[in-house]
Amino acid sequence: MLILLPKPPVGNIMFKSEGIIMKKYLFDSNYPLEERMVTFVYLTMILSSLVVVLMNIVSGIPFEKNIKWIAFILFIAGIMILYNRNEKNRRVIKNVSFVLTIYAIFPALFILSGGLRTAAIPYMIVLLLAIVYSFYGKVRIFFIASYIVIAQVLMLLNYFVPEIFPVVSDNDMFLDWLTNIPVILLLIAALALWTSNEHRRERDRALGLSREMEEISKNDTLTGIFNRRYLKERLAELQESDAHVCLFIFDIDRFKTINDKLGHSEGDRILIKVAEAMTSIFEDMTSIRFGGDEFLVIGAGCDKKVISGKVAEFRKILKDSIDVTISGGIAKYNGDVEESLKRADMLLYDAKNTGRDKVIIED
Ligand code: GH3
Ligand code: MG
Repeated sequence: MLILLPKPPVGNIMFKSEGIIMKKYLFDSNYPLEERMVTFVYLTMILSSLVVVLMNIVSGIPFEKNIKWIAFILFIAGIMILYNRNEKNRRVIKNVSFVLTIYAIFPALFILSGGLRTAAIPYMIVLLLAIVYSFYGKVRIFFIASYIVIAQVLMLLNYFVPEIFPVVSDNDMFLDWLTNIPVILLLIAALALWTSNEHRRERDRALGLSREMEEISKNDTLTGIFNRRYLKERLAELQESDAHVCLFIFDIDRFKTINDKLGHSEGDRILIKVAEAMTSIFEDMTSIRFGGDEFLVIGAGCDKKVISGKVAEFRKILKDSIDVTISGGIAKYNGDVEESLKRADMLLYDAKNTGRDKVIIED
């Protein structure tokens, strides 16, 4: 099924307000989920680094230690803006930003912060999730595999070349873990919650669209009543009810002349009025536009007297309100759609051939 979505607008709105950035690029379902996910990942990177800086300030850690984090925040914020403003190079920007983060920034931050004694390992998990959510297929597998190798190399470095790592006191280590673990847990929860929510929203939206398409495909575009595609489905439903089902097929008399005299759009208006009268008189039955000026009413519990009364009422309304007559035939449904329709159609044919403006009911 082809679903055409409006193309998302590019750029421009980015600098208008922070609120618009978030709303548009995170929650606007016109943007592909994969791209919104990357924006979300960038945003979590920025927010988590901001929290680290704040925690460092609160814990009284020397400000120089924050410089690397501030540089990282500025880098990711720049990348995020570029990513959302530059539709053409979006993929390249994302790839470059992750290559730099995984192979340069992450190892540098790991070493500069003091290695394994800090909360680096839990942050590794956050970055791993970011990779998982931002890439697909072979590229993702490549990033994950090389990231694991890098993590191993960093741990070996920490053990065999400890002199390149700054010394972290027990007190600093305690503060680092105490402040970062809640942030990391919240980040993981936010990533998982956002993605599962967005997936659910996408699924509901797709479901709604497919239902809408289904509705449209069953309805006649001009009159809004059912079209012939719905006939078999409706008959199958009625058959299950085990009730006496009948088919009333009718065709407007001399409709071509009406069209010629009054114009095609007036002809359309008349078809709509016929459909309206039909659904109101045969309200407990199903009204179908069979095609052109031919209509069909199907219903269960078909009593000859009741149906002829309704048909008479219907014909009177058509005559009085829009000055049209119809010819038709009513036949019982015997479980065979084609055969039953053929019998009703034969009666309609007889009505046409014997002067029109009449409805013949099968014995
Ligand atoms: P008869 O009494 O034998 O039925 O004569 P008729 O002129 O009604 O002939 P017929 O039923 O064969 O022709 C139906 C006409 O309905 C032909 C076509 O021009 C017209 N028609 C079909 N669909 C539409 C439509 O959607 N809008 C309009 N305005 N006219 C339509
Ligand atoms: Mg006709």
